[in-house]
Parts: sequence; C-alpha cells; structure tokens
Amino acid sequence: MTAHIIDGRALAQKILDELKHEIATKNLKPGLTVVLVGENPASKVYVASKEKTANELGMKTETIRLPAQTSKTQLLELIEKLNRDKAVHGILVQMPLPKHFGKDDEYEVLSAVNPAKDVDGFHYINAGKLSQGRPAFVPCTPMGCMIILQDLVQKKIIEKLDGLDAIVIGRSNIVGKPLGFLLLDANCTVTFTHSKTQNLADKCRKADIIVAAIGKPEFVQGDWVKDGAVVIDVGINRIADPSHPKGSRLVGDVAFTEAAKRATAITPVPGGVGPMTIACLMKNTVKAALNG
Ligand code: NAD
Repeated sequence: MTAHIIDGRALAQKILDELKHEIATKNLKPGLTVVLVGENPASKVYVASKEKTANELGMKTETIRLPAQTSKTQLLELIEKLNRDKAVHGILVQMPLPKHFGKDDEYEVLSAVNPAKDVDGFHYINAGKLSQGRPAFVPCTPMGCMIILQDLVQKKIIEKLDGLDAIVIGRSNIVGKPLGFLLLDANCTVTFTHSKTQNLADKCRKADIIVAAIGKPEFVQGDWVKDGAVVIDVGINRIADPSHPKGSRLVGDVAFTEAAKRATAITPVPGGVGPMTIACLMKNTVKAALNG
C-alpha cells in the first residue's frame, strides 16, 4: 500500500483564500493581537508567521513583544487592557511563557483572556464547552487535524469517521485532550494515551486513526500502524542532519517512510498539520470578529 500524502499546505491555503474573500466581502477588520514574552526562538518564528498570514488576509494585527523578566502582574494588566479594546477581536498569548511563570501562573494568564477573544481556545470556559460538545473556540491544532480528517472523507479516501477506533498519543491541553473530545464528537471510539500507557505499540496496531502529539522524533514506528490506518503526525522535532544544508531538519513523531507503507493516508512533517494550525487561528479570529 502506498499512502495518500496529505497536503496540509494546500488545504490550509484553501481555508485562507476563503477567509480572505469573507473578510473582503463582509468588510470585516478582524483585529488579532499576539503577546510574546521573552526570546524563545521557536516562538519568534511562529509569531512572525501568524503576523504575516494575518496581514495577508487584511486583518489588523499587532505583536506586543515583552521582555523575559515581565512579571505576571504586568502581563495580566496588558491582557485586561486588550480585553477592553473593541478593535481587538482575538488575543493570543504565545506559549511557553518564560520559566519564572509556573504552571499555575500560566493557567492564570490563559484564564485572564476574555473567553470571547480566546482565539487559541485555551481558556477553561472554552475547554469546558468543547468537552460538553457545545460551540466554543476550538484550539487551532486539533481543529486543523479534524479538518484534515473530514477532508479525507470528502475526497472518499476514507468512507467515514463514525465508529472508527482512534488513538491519541499525548494528553496535553493544547493538542491531545481537545483532539480526543473532537474525535469523540465525530463518533470515533477514542483511546487517550500518554507517557505512562502500557503496551502502546499494541494499542496503536488496533487503531484506524493514529494521532501522534508527543514531541519525540519518529517515536511511532512503522510496524505500529495497522494496514489501512490514517496517521496524523502533530509532532515537530528538529534533529541533527549533517547532509542537510542547515545541518538539521524537521521530523514528526512518526517514522514517516515506514508508516507510509502501511497507512491509507498520512501527514508529512513539515507540510501537514503545521500550516493547518495557522489557518485555523485565522478562522477563529474571523469568527471572533463576526461575533464582536
Ligand atoms: P506536551 O509536551 O505538552 O505533551 C506531550 C505528551 O506526550 C504528554 O501528554 C506526554 O504524556 C506524552 N508522552 C511523552 N512521552 C510519551 C511516551 N513515551 N509515550 C506516550 N506518550 C508520551 O506537547 P504538546 O504541546 O502536546 O506537543 C506535542 C508535539 O506536537 C510537539 O512536538 C510540538 O512541537 C508539536 N506541536 C505541533 C503543532 C503544530 O502546529 N503542528 C502545534 C502544537 C504542538
């Protein structure tokens, strides 16, 4: 079997084109403000890419860059100001925050964002609504994964999602948990797995859909994939590769070449889930502007 290689860039571009058209025809001016605290190199790249995409769509976007030593109080004051600003429809605080922000601080910061402007979908109110199958701002990466799966159904690469066995590897609040709820809403039978899961390979071999959101390069082996399964690789890992001009390259959480020999469809890294994440952020921002 040779897998269908899912083109996340093309699918994302289709969403962006539709959004651009909607913004222009409805004369919207969606405002997206991104708050970046500190100098995390990966975060800088992500933020620049979000800003560029938002600008291309005709949004009003601003990135507020704060020094790493910014206090929680200062950050909360800024969020309150943005919550009150009527021109700001979407607020995104780029994660991770610098180390002096503990887990509880991170939760407090994410909870300070007005849920109606929470385009990342990380606020507990949006997370709670999602878990109850209510309309909510859905986190961008899980939303992107679901659009990919629904597109496979539309293209008749798979028949339907109803009744499929899905395994989600990773239980983070930004990827694994919300994606599990979305798969459940799509009538899949979902197994949540994590670092303490026993016999993970055997569990994977039974799954019709494997989602890998672990953060470990090529962790999911080819022989963990059932013949005909769909593989969604969320992981983004940079590994050393002297043969590459940069001396390194990006790989996912799945051993792509081997998994592609068994899967019906698989996302590559890069070019799979990543571009969908940004497109879904833009989708959420337009939704916030329409609501506001
Ligand atoms: P995280 O570190 O918050 O969570 C990782 C999860 O993996 C944890 O729940 C942990 O239990 C699980 N895990 C760790 N070791 C395991 C093991 N041996 N077996 C089974 N499970 C194990 O990470 P995250 O924020 O969810 O991100 C996961 C990956 O996805 C990272 O590579 C990240 O860069 C990537 N990511 C990509 C996008 C995108 O747009 N493509 C967006 C977000 C995250």
